[in-house]
Amino acid sequence: MSNVTLVSPPAPTIVTADQPLRPHDPGSLISMRGIWKTYQMGSEAVHALHGVSFDIPKGEYIAIIGPSGSGKSTLMNLIGCLDTPSQGEYWLNSKNVSEMDDDELARIRNQEVGFVFQTFNLLARATALHNVELPLIYGGIGSAQRHEMAKQALAAVDLADRVTHRPNELSGGQRQRVAIARALVNHPSILLADEPTGALDTHTSMEIMDLFDRLHGEGNTIIVVTHEADIAARAHRMVSIRDGLIEKDEKIR
Ligand code: ADP
Ligand code: MG
Repeated sequence: MSNVTLVSPPAPTIVTADQPLRPHDPGSLISMRGIWKTYQMGSEAVHALHGVSFDIPKGEYIAIIGPSGSGKSTLMNLIGCLDTPSQGEYWLNSKNVSEMDDDELARIRNQEVGFVFQTFNLLARATALHNVELPLIYGGIGSAQRHEMAKQALAAVDLADRVTHRPNELSGGQRQRVAIARALVNHPSILLADEPTGALDTHTSMEIMDLFDRLHGEGNTIIVVTHEADIAARAHRMVSIRDGLIEKDEKIR
Protein backbone atom coordinates (compact mmCIF):
# COMPACT_ATOMS: atom_id res chain seq x y z
CA MET A 1 0.00 0.00 0.00
CA SER A 2 1.31 3.40 -0.83
CA ASN A 3 2.15 5.74 1.95
CA VAL A 4 -0.70 8.27 1.90
CA THR A 5 -0.58 11.32 4.10
CA LEU A 6 -3.81 13.22 4.56
CA VAL A 7 -3.16 16.92 4.50
CA SER A 8 -5.97 19.46 4.18
CA PRO A 9 -5.38 21.78 1.26
CA PRO A 10 -4.54 25.32 2.35
CA ALA A 11 -7.58 27.60 2.50
CA PRO A 12 -7.66 29.84 -0.54
CA THR A 13 -6.80 33.45 0.09
CA ILE A 14 -9.62 35.79 -0.86
CA VAL A 15 -8.56 38.60 -3.11
CA THR A 16 -10.60 41.77 -2.95
CA ALA A 17 -10.17 44.92 -5.01
CA ASP A 18 -7.91 46.34 -2.31
CA GLN A 19 -5.73 43.58 -0.93
CA PRO A 20 -5.52 39.84 -0.36
CA LEU A 21 -7.03 38.72 2.96
CA ARG A 22 -5.56 36.09 5.19
CA PRO A 23 -7.49 32.80 5.19
CA HIS A 24 -10.29 32.27 7.68
CA ASP A 25 -9.33 31.19 11.18
CA PRO A 26 -10.49 27.59 11.70
CA GLY A 27 -10.06 27.98 15.47
CA SER A 28 -12.62 30.77 15.77
CA LEU A 29 -16.33 30.22 16.27
CA ILE A 30 -17.00 33.00 13.75
CA SER A 31 -14.60 33.95 11.00
CA MET A 32 -15.57 36.52 8.36
CA ARG A 33 -13.38 37.54 5.46
CA GLY A 34 -14.04 40.36 3.04
CA ILE A 35 -17.79 40.42 3.60
CA TRP A 36 -19.78 42.69 1.32
CA LYS A 37 -23.53 43.14 1.32
CA THR A 38 -25.02 45.05 -1.53
CA TYR A 39 -28.71 45.83 -1.89
CA GLN A 40 -30.01 46.68 -5.33
CA MET A 41 -32.46 49.58 -5.12
CA GLY A 42 -33.78 50.02 -8.64
CA SER A 43 -30.76 51.10 -10.65
CA GLU A 44 -28.74 52.03 -7.56
CA ALA A 45 -26.52 49.61 -5.59
CA VAL A 46 -26.43 50.28 -1.83
CA HIS A 47 -23.31 48.81 -0.22
CA ALA A 48 -24.37 48.15 3.38
CA LEU A 49 -21.07 46.35 4.19
CA HIS A 50 -17.79 47.12 2.41
CA GLY A 51 -15.47 44.20 3.06
CA VAL A 52 -15.75 43.34 6.75
CA SER A 53 -13.28 40.85 8.25
CA PHE A 54 -13.14 39.68 11.85
CA ASP A 55 -12.94 36.65 14.11
CA ILE A 56 -14.91 35.83 17.23
CA PRO A 57 -13.54 33.07 19.45
CA LYS A 58 -15.89 30.78 21.35
CA GLY A 59 -16.95 32.20 24.69
CA GLU A 60 -16.43 35.86 23.82
CA TYR A 61 -18.85 38.61 24.86
CA ILE A 62 -18.88 41.26 22.15
CA ALA A 63 -20.84 44.41 21.42
CA ILE A 64 -21.36 45.71 17.91
CA ILE A 65 -22.00 49.43 18.04
CA GLY A 66 -22.52 52.13 15.43
CA PRO A 67 -24.84 54.90 14.33
CA SER A 68 -28.13 54.29 12.56
CA GLY A 69 -27.59 53.10 8.99
CA SER A 70 -24.00 51.96 9.64
CA GLY A 71 -24.75 48.31 8.79
CA LYS A 72 -25.34 46.77 12.23
CA SER A 73 -28.55 44.95 11.34
CA THR A 74 -27.11 43.82 8.04
CA LEU A 75 -24.11 42.34 9.87
CA MET A 76 -26.33 40.78 12.51
CA ASN A 77 -28.51 39.15 9.83
CA LEU A 78 -25.41 37.66 8.25
CA ILE A 79 -23.97 36.45 11.57
CA GLY A 80 -27.36 34.92 12.41
CA CYS A 81 -27.61 33.18 9.02
CA LEU A 82 -30.79 35.06 8.13
CA ASP A 83 -29.10 36.27 4.97
CA THR A 84 -25.99 35.51 2.91
CA PRO A 85 -23.24 37.95 1.88
CA SER A 86 -22.96 39.32 -1.67
CA GLN A 87 -19.25 38.61 -1.53
CA GLY A 88 -16.76 37.17 0.96
CA GLU A 89 -16.62 34.17 3.27
CA TYR A 90 -18.39 33.46 6.53
CA TRP A 91 -17.30 30.45 8.56
CA LEU A 92 -19.42 29.50 11.57
CA ASN A 93 -18.25 26.59 13.69
CA SER A 94 -15.98 25.44 10.83
CA LYS A 95 -18.82 25.48 8.31
CA ASN A 96 -18.75 27.76 5.30
CA VAL A 97 -22.12 29.44 5.69
CA SER A 98 -21.60 31.83 2.77
CA GLU A 99 -22.14 28.95 0.32
CA MET A 100 -25.23 27.43 1.90
CA ASP A 101 -28.68 27.30 0.33
CA ASP A 102 -31.83 28.37 2.18
CA ASP A 103 -32.60 24.94 3.66
CA GLU A 104 -29.10 24.53 5.03
CA LEU A 105 -29.20 28.07 6.42
CA ALA A 106 -32.49 27.37 8.18
CA ARG A 107 -31.01 24.28 9.80
CA ILE A 108 -27.81 26.06 10.89
CA ARG A 109 -29.89 28.94 12.26
CA ASN A 110 -31.99 26.60 14.36
CA GLN A 111 -28.99 24.68 15.71
CA GLU A 112 -26.36 27.36 16.08
CA VAL A 113 -28.05 30.68 16.78
CA GLY A 114 -30.31 31.94 19.57
CA PHE A 115 -31.94 35.28 18.74
CA VAL A 116 -33.08 37.98 21.17
CA PHE A 117 -34.92 41.00 19.77
CA GLN A 118 -35.80 44.45 21.07
CA THR A 119 -39.54 43.69 21.00
CA PHE A 120 -39.20 40.13 22.42
CA ASN A 121 -41.12 38.56 19.47
CA LEU A 122 -43.09 36.17 21.67
CA LEU A 123 -46.33 34.51 20.59
CA ALA A 124 -48.97 36.52 22.45
CA ARG A 125 -51.45 33.66 22.98
CA ALA A 126 -48.88 31.09 24.01
CA THR A 127 -47.59 30.42 27.53
CA ALA A 128 -43.99 31.09 28.46
CA LEU A 129 -43.38 27.34 28.29
CA HIS A 130 -44.81 27.04 24.78
CA ASN A 131 -42.86 30.06 23.56
CA VAL A 132 -39.64 28.51 24.80
CA GLU A 133 -40.52 25.16 23.22
CA LEU A 134 -40.89 26.60 19.71
CA PRO A 135 -37.28 26.15 18.50
CA LEU A 136 -37.44 22.56 19.76
CA ILE A 137 -40.62 21.91 17.78
CA TYR A 138 -38.85 23.16 14.63
CA GLY A 139 -35.90 21.00 15.64
CA GLY A 140 -38.15 17.91 15.74
CA ILE A 141 -37.75 17.09 19.44
CA GLY A 142 -40.51 15.01 21.09
CA SER A 143 -42.97 16.62 23.50
CA ALA A 144 -41.82 15.11 26.82
CA GLN A 145 -38.21 16.09 26.20
CA ARG A 146 -39.32 19.49 24.89
CA HIS A 147 -41.25 20.25 28.08
CA GLU A 148 -38.32 19.27 30.23
CA MET A 149 -35.82 21.35 28.25
CA ALA A 150 -38.12 24.40 28.16
CA LYS A 151 -38.72 24.20 31.92
CA GLN A 152 -35.00 24.03 32.55
CA ALA A 153 -34.36 27.02 30.27
CA LEU A 154 -37.03 29.04 32.10
CA ALA A 155 -35.56 28.05 35.46
CA ALA A 156 -32.14 29.21 34.22
CA VAL A 157 -33.55 32.73 33.74
CA ASP A 158 -35.35 32.61 37.13
CA LEU A 159 -38.82 32.10 35.69
CA ALA A 160 -39.57 28.62 37.03
CA ASP A 161 -42.71 30.05 38.67
CA ARG A 162 -44.02 31.68 35.47
CA VAL A 163 -44.18 28.78 33.00
CA THR A 164 -47.93 29.01 32.44
CA HIS A 165 -48.06 32.80 32.15
CA ARG A 166 -48.75 34.42 28.79
CA PRO A 167 -46.73 37.45 27.64
CA ASN A 168 -49.42 39.96 28.73
CA GLU A 169 -49.26 38.48 32.24
CA LEU A 170 -45.52 39.21 32.46
CA SER A 171 -43.47 42.40 32.90
CA GLY A 172 -41.20 43.65 30.11
CA GLY A 173 -38.12 42.26 31.82
CA GLN A 174 -39.82 38.89 32.34
CA ARG A 175 -40.87 38.80 28.68
CA GLN A 176 -37.30 39.42 27.61
CA ARG A 177 -36.16 36.65 29.96
CA VAL A 178 -38.66 34.28 28.28
CA ALA A 179 -37.15 35.33 24.94
CA ILE A 180 -33.65 34.64 26.30
CA ALA A 181 -34.77 31.20 27.54
CA ARG A 182 -36.18 30.52 24.06
CA ALA A 183 -32.88 31.63 22.50
CA LEU A 184 -30.87 29.31 24.75
CA VAL A 185 -33.10 26.24 24.90
CA ASN A 186 -31.33 24.58 21.95
CA HIS A 187 -27.88 25.24 23.45
CA PRO A 188 -26.83 27.29 20.42
CA SER A 189 -23.24 28.31 19.64
CA ILE A 190 -24.10 32.01 19.72
CA LEU A 191 -26.59 34.19 21.56
CA LEU A 192 -27.31 37.07 19.19
CA ALA A 193 -29.17 40.03 20.66
CA ASP A 194 -30.34 43.05 18.63
CA GLU A 195 -30.98 46.05 20.93
CA PRO A 196 -32.14 43.67 23.69
CA THR A 197 -32.86 46.48 26.15
CA GLY A 198 -34.29 48.96 23.64
CA ALA A 199 -37.84 48.51 24.96
CA LEU A 200 -36.96 48.33 28.67
CA ASP A 201 -36.53 50.92 31.40
CA THR A 202 -33.05 51.54 32.82
CA HIS A 203 -33.43 49.35 35.90
CA THR A 204 -34.84 46.40 33.95
CA SER A 205 -32.17 46.89 31.26
CA MET A 206 -29.47 46.46 33.87
CA GLU A 207 -31.16 43.27 35.16
CA ILE A 208 -31.12 41.86 31.63
CA MET A 209 -27.46 42.85 31.22
CA ASP A 210 -26.70 41.17 34.57
CA LEU A 211 -28.29 38.03 33.15
CA PHE A 212 -26.06 38.30 30.05
CA ASP A 213 -23.02 38.61 32.34
CA ARG A 214 -24.04 35.42 34.08
CA LEU A 215 -24.74 33.58 30.81
CA HIS A 216 -21.33 34.66 29.54
CA GLY A 217 -19.76 33.39 32.77
CA GLU A 218 -21.46 30.04 32.08
CA GLY A 219 -19.61 29.78 28.76
CA ASN A 220 -22.05 31.26 26.26
CA THR A 221 -20.77 33.31 23.33
CA ILE A 222 -22.76 36.54 23.28
CA ILE A 223 -23.05 39.18 20.56
CA VAL A 224 -25.07 42.28 21.40
CA VAL A 225 -25.93 44.85 18.74
CA THR A 226 -26.70 48.20 20.31
CA HIS A 227 -26.42 51.94 19.82
CA GLU A 228 -26.33 52.53 23.61
CA ALA A 229 -22.83 53.09 25.02
CA ASP A 230 -23.68 51.85 28.55
CA ILE A 231 -25.06 48.58 27.16
CA ALA A 232 -22.01 48.11 24.92
CA ALA A 233 -19.73 48.80 27.90
CA ARG A 234 -20.98 45.59 29.55
CA ALA A 235 -19.29 43.48 26.85
CA HIS A 236 -15.62 42.49 26.88
CA ARG A 237 -14.91 43.57 23.32
CA MET A 238 -16.41 46.38 21.30
CA VAL A 239 -16.55 46.50 17.52
CA SER A 240 -17.59 49.89 16.14
CA ILE A 241 -18.93 50.02 12.63
CA ARG A 242 -19.45 53.05 10.46
CA ASP A 243 -20.50 53.25 6.80
CA GLY A 244 -20.30 49.48 6.46
CA LEU A 245 -16.75 49.14 7.72
CA ILE A 246 -15.17 48.24 11.06
CA GLU A 247 -13.85 51.50 12.42
CA LYS A 248 -12.54 50.22 15.74
CA ASP A 249 -12.19 46.79 17.36
CA GLU A 250 -11.05 46.94 20.97
CA LYS A 251 -10.88 44.79 24.07
CA ILE A 252 -12.63 46.75 26.79
CA ARG A 253 -12.10 44.53 29.83
P1 ADP B 1 -28.22 49.82 11.09
O1 ADP B 1 -28.80 48.57 11.61
O2 ADP B 1 -26.83 50.09 11.58
O3 ADP B 1 -29.10 51.00 11.33
P2 ADP B 1 -28.66 48.65 8.46
O4 ADP B 1 -27.81 47.45 8.42
O5 ADP B 1 -30.11 48.44 8.70
O6 ADP B 1 -28.06 49.71 9.48
O7 ADP B 1 -28.50 49.43 7.08
C1 ADP B 1 -27.25 49.74 6.47
C2 ADP B 1 -27.49 50.42 5.11
O8 ADP B 1 -28.08 49.49 4.20
C3 ADP B 1 -28.43 51.61 5.18
O9 ADP B 1 -27.99 52.57 4.26
C4 ADP B 1 -29.76 51.01 4.74
O10 ADP B 1 -30.55 52.00 4.15
C5 ADP B 1 -29.34 49.95 3.75
N1 ADP B 1 -30.26 48.80 3.76
C6 ADP B 1 -30.49 47.96 4.80
N2 ADP B 1 -31.37 47.00 4.45
C7 ADP B 1 -31.71 47.24 3.16
C8 ADP B 1 -32.58 46.60 2.22
N3 ADP B 1 -33.28 45.49 2.55
N4 ADP B 1 -32.69 47.12 0.98
C9 ADP B 1 -31.98 48.22 0.66
N5 ADP B 1 -31.14 48.89 1.47
C10 ADP B 1 -30.99 48.40 2.71
MG1 MG C 1 -30.52 48.25 12.72
